[in-house]
Amino acid sequence: MDLQLTGKTALVLAASKGLGKACALALAAEGADVIIGAREQTNLDAAAKHIAALGKGRVRAIRVDVTDAASVAAMIDTAAAEFGKIDILVNNAGGPPFGKFESFDDAAWQSAFELTLLSTVRFSRLVVPHMRPTGSGRIINITSLSTKTYLPGSVLSTSLRLGVVGMAKMLANELGPDNITVNNVAPGSILTDRLRHSMTSTAPGAPSFEEQLAEHAKGIPLGRIGKPEELAALVAFLASPLAGYITGATIPVDGGAIKATV
Ligand code: NAD
Repeated sequence: MDLQLTGKTALVLAASKGLGKACALALAAEGADVIIGAREQTNLDAAAKHIAALGKGRVRAIRVDVTDAASVAAMIDTAAAEFGKIDILVNNAGGPPFGKFESFDDAAWQSAFELTLLSTVRFSRLVVPHMRPTGSGRIINITSLSTKTYLPGSVLSTSLRLGVVGMAKMLANELGPDNITVNNVAPGSILTDRLRHSMTSTAPGAPSFEEQLAEHAKGIPLGRIGKPEELAALVAFLASPLAGYITGATIPVDGGAIKATV
């Protein structure tokens, strides 16, 4: 299937590794020009090199901290000036820490708000004026399965990502007349550094990393942890003209892990 992404310009955030990088790779493999952002230059450059090796569209790496308003605005200005338009925005960032409700003070909530919700608000608000003149647009937010089902210890992530889901629903309505779609992709357990650090115990005597993953996978109907490219494939489809009638949706990529029936 040709996803018709050649000539499209995609901005992908937190793309130096993990899910963001996989999304950038998938979009580039389909011919899109990609602008990737993350905080750390060395990893960002390595990701850009990897994407450029596909030999498809243009690749540009721009350092950005998604929690920093000036840095966000500068990235979008640079992208728009160099590429002339933005067709696709993949909102993504590192996840907030896990822990119990009573372990988080106001400062922790404020940081999580800026990382998870406000970054998505800012990028979307600043990118829309560069999408509108093209007659279409795609905003895709990487959220979490915690927006669909109970995930222990995820109070920061769940609370703020439900804000992202609410914002996406509002935006999908407001931007429908501009042919801009807004959707959320909710990862279950996908093998990235985030999963490695958050899910595995390093306590003395704890089972090996592989054993812990295998145990976790038993609770997933497909019986395994997902691969970043399996989530990225959905993102590439949602970014494409073929997904033009899907908006306001939150779609899990979770191997069937959600227990709810609706
Ligand atoms: P990851 O830790 O592998 O990668 C995170 C990326 O975010 C890195 O490139 C890092 O440099 C970047 N980043 C972090 N803070 C940033 C900031 N302030 N500005 C710019 N870049 C920043 O994580 P991942 O697994 O790829 O997860 C991506 C998102 O998906 C996270 O929000 C995570 O919580 C969520 N998620 C992941 C899973 C999973 O199984 N991997 C499950 C549920 C939700």
